Amino acid sequence: MKRLSTQSPQFQQELQALLAFETVQDPKIDQIVADICADVQRRGDAAVIAYTNQFDGTQAQTMADLTLSQDDLKAAFFRLPENVQTALQTAAERVRSYHQHQKQESWHYTDADGTLLGQQVTPLDRVGIYVPGGKAAYPSSVIMNAMPAHVAGVPEIIMVVPTPQGERNDIVLAAAYIAGVTKVFTIGGAQAVAALAYGTQTVPQVDKITGPGNAFVAAAKRRVFGVVGIDMVAGPSEILVIADGSTPADWVAMDLFSQAEHDEIAQAILIATSPDYLDEVQAAMHRLMPTMPRRAIIEASLGNRGAMILAKDLDEACAIANYIAPEHLELSVENAAAWAQKIRHAGAIFMGRYTSESLGDYCAGPNHVLPTSRTARFSSPLGTYDFQKRSSLIQVSEQGAQQLGKIASILAHGENLTAHARSAELRLKD
Ligand code: NAD
Repeated sequence: MKRLSTQSPQFQQELQALLAFETVQDPKIDQIVADICADVQRRGDAAVIAYTNQFDGTQAQTMADLTLSQDDLKAAFFRLPENVQTALQTAAERVRSYHQHQKQESWHYTDADGTLLGQQVTPLDRVGIYVPGGKAAYPSSVIMNAMPAHVAGVPEIIMVVPTPQGERNDIVLAAAYIAGVTKVFTIGGAQAVAALAYGTQTVPQVDKITGPGNAFVAAAKRRVFGVVGIDMVAGPSEILVIADGSTPADWVAMDLFSQAEHDEIAQAILIATSPDYLDEVQAAMHRLMPTMPRRAIIEASLGNRGAMILAKDLDEACAIANYIAPEHLELSVENAAAWAQKIRHAGAIFMGRYTSESLGDYCAGPNHVLPTSRTARFSSPLGTYDFQKRSSLIQVSEQGAQQLGKIASILAHGENLTAHARSAELRLKD
């Protein structure tokens, strides 16, 4: 892992180089995705079935072969061992409870002249949840995407998940059952995103699509944005650990591994205030590495984009964290809650040495879909609010129309919009 020191005259340049990551928008992938989306828009189900058979190795004849009902989801749940059922239910309940706090409510107030102004909050009608399934199964993604929609009161939650060679994952389907998913289609990739965005004879058109996926899924989400809403286009996973040296080095080493094991281009960074502690963590990583089944990915990720940074104190460490704006920030320090107040940019802040980032991935309660690639400077975790929308409410009283009408008339004439002005003036009494 690279070592950087804030005392080096090249530090700023080195930090820039470390963070440099451009979302690769491969033109070849974009072209494939454009063709698939156009074909699904044109041929509907027939195209979805053909691409699913081609890319996922299935032998579907009709969409019925790629459709699961509530009963199928329920059956998957009851096939699971009891400890898995309980773990899923506990995680889902914690996520539900957290997202309940995020629910926005309608509000209004009345002016002195009797004019009512406010905001009406309503859930989206129908949303699509993309759950990746090409190379691995992600039940936690089901809970993290579907539960906020469920809490928001979305009446129809349509989930898509590819099932390579037709192999269905019971934990994924059980997670859908307890997270309130209405219907599941076992389709994936660009064809699934296009089916949700445009609708087909069988797949209902949704209003918004959320959920992570590979490059084909990301390109398809970018392409259909505008026809439907999307949550975000997520980049590779990131973790930044700030350690004051009070946490066992093995714990910090494993926390860095836990993000590095996602992907060769994931990013794991440690900032500490003592070179001895950096050495200790480095030694722990060497010792633990051979025990990791995903060693090759971890080594590639740490080698490509990982770093250890020596800072002069924790204030400086927090300033660097604000610049990096990481997806996950662990404050592995004494008095973590006090230091958290210095953090303005991070997707999620894990406070104190007992709060490993992995608890947030599965069951702590907050969402694990978080802004990456420095976008935490301006965006937030996926939440209940992403499945709600707001309509402005205005009810002007007769008295209010007199005062507002005069103002609107003056401004409308200033814009040469005569109908606007007259519409306001017609309601004036004299
Ligand atoms: P996926 O479901 O995203 O993609 C599988 C689909 O890709 C296939 O069904 C197929 O339709 C399409 N595809 C594959 N090769 C294709 C080709 N040559 N041409 C056209 N389409 C093709 O599953 P995945 O591949 O396992 O990727 C999952 C991704 O999601 C990973 O990058 C993983 O790290 C990420 N992920 C992120 C989070 C998060 O919260 N940020 C959580 C889970 C997974």
